[in-house]
Amino acid sequence: MSAGTAERSHEGACTCRAVRFRMRSGPLFVHCCHCRWCQRETGSAFALNAMIETSRVELLGAASEMVTMPSNSGRGQKVARCPRCRIALWSHYAGAGDAIAFVRVGTLLEPDRLPPDIHIFTSSKQPWVLLPPGTPAVAEYYDRDAHWPAASLERRRALLARPA
Ligand SMILES: [Zn+2]
Ligand SMILES: [Zn+2]
Repeated sequence: MSAGTAERSHEGACTCRAVRFRMRSGPLFVHCCHCRWCQRETGSAFALNAMIETSRVELLGAASEMVTMPSNSGRGQKVARCPRCRIALWSHYAGAGDAIAFVRVGTLLEPDRLPPDIHIFTSSKQPWVLLPPGTPAVAEYYDRDAHWPAASLERRRALLARPA
């Protein structure tokens, strides 16, 4: 399970490689989201996002550029894009705020290392996408306490306890 590999780092980059970054540890949790918003934003069937403390995302090249976009919640999302090739690298959503980054797993150099921990919004999953048995799948959203590993819940508690 990806969230169990907390000690491993992951490197990523945009298409033109101006923006390069390193996740300094494994993620808190990996979402495969099948909602219509993610389908539209990716032009594909789903989005794969690795949630991690933003403080653990280290920029190695050019600075990314934050673009504000609408979101499913109605409260907007901030998307970190390469200023040159415009690839989206990660997002901040209103719910978790700037403290947690949703890194696009497809921008990692070794995306295979971070398979989904859960499939969400399967109510709008495209019918030809077949989900593997053994990975949790929910029609919409889920109860964090019921699904996250204890170590990730502890990391989240530590993050929220920190003064802003
Ligand atoms: Zn780029
Ligand atoms: Zn989604």
